[in-house]
Amino acid sequence: MRKNEEYNLEITDMGIDGEGIGKAEGVTLFVKDAVIGDLVRVKIMKMKKTYGYARLMEIVKPSPYRVEPKCPLSRQCGGCQIQSLCYEKQLEFKEKKVRNNLERIAGLGNPFIEPIVGMEEPYHFRNKEQFPIRKGKDGQAVAGFFAARTHHLIPVANCLIGAPVNEIIIREVLRVMNQHGIEPYEEETHSGLVRHVLIRYGFTSKEIMVCFVLNGEELPYAKEMAETLCKIDGMTSITINVNTEKTNVILGNTVRVLWGRDYIMDELDGIRFRISPLSFYQVNPRQTEKLYRIAMEYAELTGTETVWDMYCGIGTISLFLSRRAGHVYGVEVVPQAIEDARKNAEINGISNVEFFVGKAEEVVPRYYEEKRREAAEAEKGKEAIENGGRAEASGTGMHPDVVVVDPPRKGCAQVLLATICQMAPERVVYVSCDSATLARDVKYLCENGYRYVKGRPVDQFGHSGHVECVVKMQRKYI
Ligand code: SAH
Repeated sequence: MRKNEEYNLEITDMGIDGEGIGKAEGVTLFVKDAVIGDLVRVKIMKMKKTYGYARLMEIVKPSPYRVEPKCPLSRQCGGCQIQSLCYEKQLEFKEKKVRNNLERIAGLGNPFIEPIVGMEEPYHFRNKEQFPIRKGKDGQAVAGFFAARTHHLIPVANCLIGAPVNEIIIREVLRVMNQHGIEPYEEETHSGLVRHVLIRYGFTSKEIMVCFVLNGEELPYAKEMAETLCKIDGMTSITINVNTEKTNVILGNTVRVLWGRDYIMDELDGIRFRISPLSFYQVNPRQTEKLYRIAMEYAELTGTETVWDMYCGIGTISLFLSRRAGHVYGVEVVPQAIEDARKNAEINGISNVEFFVGKAEEVVPRYYEEKRREAAEAEKGKEAIENGGRAEASGTGMHPDVVVVDPPRKGCAQVLLATICQMAPERVVYVSCDSATLARDVKYLCENGYRYVKGRPVDQFGHSGHVECVVKMQRKYI
C-alpha cells in the first residue's frame, strides 16, 4: 500500500479520538471523519509498518448511525470529533472504550461495568470555553477554535456545545478590539497581545466570568472593554491573566481584576462553590452532579468515615463527601483552588474538611510518614513502627476508610498509589477522565491489595472521544 493510492473499505471500529477504523486488503487504516458502518473511499496519506492513515474522499454508503452534524464546522473544528455519529452510538463507543482499556491494560476478565450515564440534551452543556484570538485574513481580530492537531484557527461564533451567551460576549470583545486596534496574539512571532478569552458560565447561578489572557501586563482600552461587557446580563467577573511565555499552556499564574469580582459562584446539588479563573471546575455541571452521586454511592459512607479526596480542585467532591463522612482531607496542587476550597467549606458551613496544597504524590506520602512516626513515637515501641502505628493513629487520617482520587489525564503518580496502599483504606473510588491511565492504575491497585468491584462511565464530553468514569476498588483480605 502506498501514499496517494485509493481504496474502498468499510468502517468497523473507532479509535480513541473517534476516528474510523477499517481494513483494506488486510491492512488497518485510520480514517478521520468516517464513522462505524460507513462504506468509504479513502486516499492513503501515510503508511506505517502494519497500519496507515487515510483521508476520507467519499462516503460511498453512509452508516445507519451517521447523522447530519448540527454544527456546520464540526468537521474542520478540533473541538468535536464524533458529531456525525448518533448520540446513542457515541455512548456505546465510550462504554466499549472503557471496557477495552480495563480488559487490555488492567488485565481484568469481563469487568462489571454499569451502563454509561448519557446526557439528556447533548448540546450547550459546557460551562467553560477558551477562545483563542488571532488575526483574520483582513487583519481584524477573530475568535474560534483550533483545527485538530494544529494551531490553525477556525472562526466559531456560536459553538453548539458551549453556553449560548458566549456568542454575545465574543462578538462584543471582538468589536471593542477591532474598534480600538487592540492586537490579537501572533504565535509565530510571539507578538501581539490578546491570546485567549476564557469564559465561564455558572449554569445555576447564571454568573459570567470573562478572563483575558494577555501576552503583556495591560489591556489597552480596558475601561471601554469593561463598560461594554458589564452590560451583559449576568456579568460578574472580568479579569486579566498575564501569560508572556512562549507556550501552549493557556493560562499564566497571575490574575488581576478589571471589573467586578475575581471569581464567580455556582452550585452543584445544593452546595455553593466559588470558582477562580485558575481553578479547575468540571465543564459539564449537569453530568457532574450525576458523576459525584456515583462516587458517593461507591464510597458507601455512613457518616463517620475518614476520607481523603486526592486532586480535590476547589473541594467539590470533598464537600459532597463531607455531608456523609466524619472527616475529609483534600489535597490539590493549585494554591488558588485550595483557597477556593477553604472558602467553599466556610460558605457552606462545613467544618469537617481540611485542605492541603501541593502535589498529592509529595504531600500525602510526607503526611503519612510523619503521622506514622508520631504514632510510633507515642507508643515508644518497635512494635508500633512495625504495625504501622495503626491502632494509635485514629483521628490523624493516616488510615482512612475511603480514598477518592480524581487525577488529570495522566493518572496518579505511582508513589501516591503506593502510599494509598499503605494507608489501606477499605475502598478506593477512582474518578477518571482517561480510561487508559485509569486502567493502568487499576492494575497497580489490583497487584497491591485491591479488587476491582465495578465501574460506571459518565458522558461529560459529548461529541468528543473522551469519557469520564468512576471505578470502585475494594480492599482484599487474604
Ligand atoms: N476533583 C476535582 C478536580 C479534578 S481535576 C473536581 O472534580 O472538580 C484534577 C485536579 O488535579 C485539578 O484541580 C489539578 O489542578 C489537580 N492536580 C494536577 N496535578 C496534581 C498533583 N500532582 N497533585 C495534586 N493535584 C493535582
